[in-house]
Amino acid sequence: MSKPVAVITGASRGIGRGIAIELAATHRIVATYKGRLDGAQSLAAETGAAIFQCDVGSAEDRKNLLAFTKQTFGRLDLLVNNAGMPQRERKDILEASEESFDEIINTNLRGPHFLTQAAAQWMLEQGSGRIVFITSISSYAASVARAEYCLSKAALSMSVALYAARLAQAGIKVFEIRPGVIRTDMIAAVEKVYEERIAGGLLPQRRMGEAADVAKAVRSIADGLLDYSTGQVINVDGGFHLRTL
Ligand code: NAD
Repeated sequence: MSKPVAVITGASRGIGRGIAIELAATHRIVATYKGRLDGAQSLAAETGAAIFQCDVGSAEDRKNLLAFTKQTFGRLDLLVNNAGMPQRERKDILEASEESFDEIINTNLRGPHFLTQAAAQWMLEQGSGRIVFITSISSYAASVARAEYCLSKAALSMSVALYAARLAQAGIKVFEIRPGVIRTDMIAAVEKVYEERIAGGLLPQRRMGEAADVAKAVRSIADGLLDYSTGQVINVDGGFHLRTL
């Protein structure tokens, strides 16, 4: 039997790349990239992934991505909504602009929400599928200088619940992976600050996460090990979400 097919958005670097590398042994992969063709090409050389340029915020690109996947592999077993961006500039909530709000909501919420809508329709025709959303601890932890990012991730968590409820009867499972502080380009500018805060007790497990930590959680979903769960939140955060006294 041929390998199942996974689409992973934003896979040219960081967490998405880690997920693509993890899944390559068992899945045929469509890895999307936005601007970094070189990163996507090196991923393709390393894993055999098919690469496709896609801005998840563009309805046209989302449509073309699924058409490409259909044409190339004919099916879709796993969608990993990984692509996302931080606000370009950290600004206090009292100063943050509507332009930044629109950009972040478009990329982090509208994109994955509507890509999932189209993918879910295809999975319903197939009668099977799994969907993963990479959200963030920012779904619930309020960072007043990153309001638009927090809002986008909080709403994306509701997207998970909504699709999980809508698709459960058809056997399509939907999961949320909620990473904490993961060493990627996204946090490069503040990595040192986080290292100090982690050493000072920010995380019960005193280390920063790696892309591979997130990829292993996706592995358990992709292999069907969590198939009697849906809408489940998997915290990959070194215990950040724990409240301790
Ligand atoms: P990253 O910046 O290294 O990678 C983000 C990827 O998303 C890149 O490949 C980028 O090209 C892609 N991307 C950005 N905007 C896009 C768009 N409009 N269309 C298509 N692709 C786009 O960051 P990362 O840390 O690997 O982040 C991956 C996901 O994990 C994001 O959704 C992020 O919010 C989430 N996350 C990261 C952390 C962390 O600490 N690094 C923590 C929690 C959640």
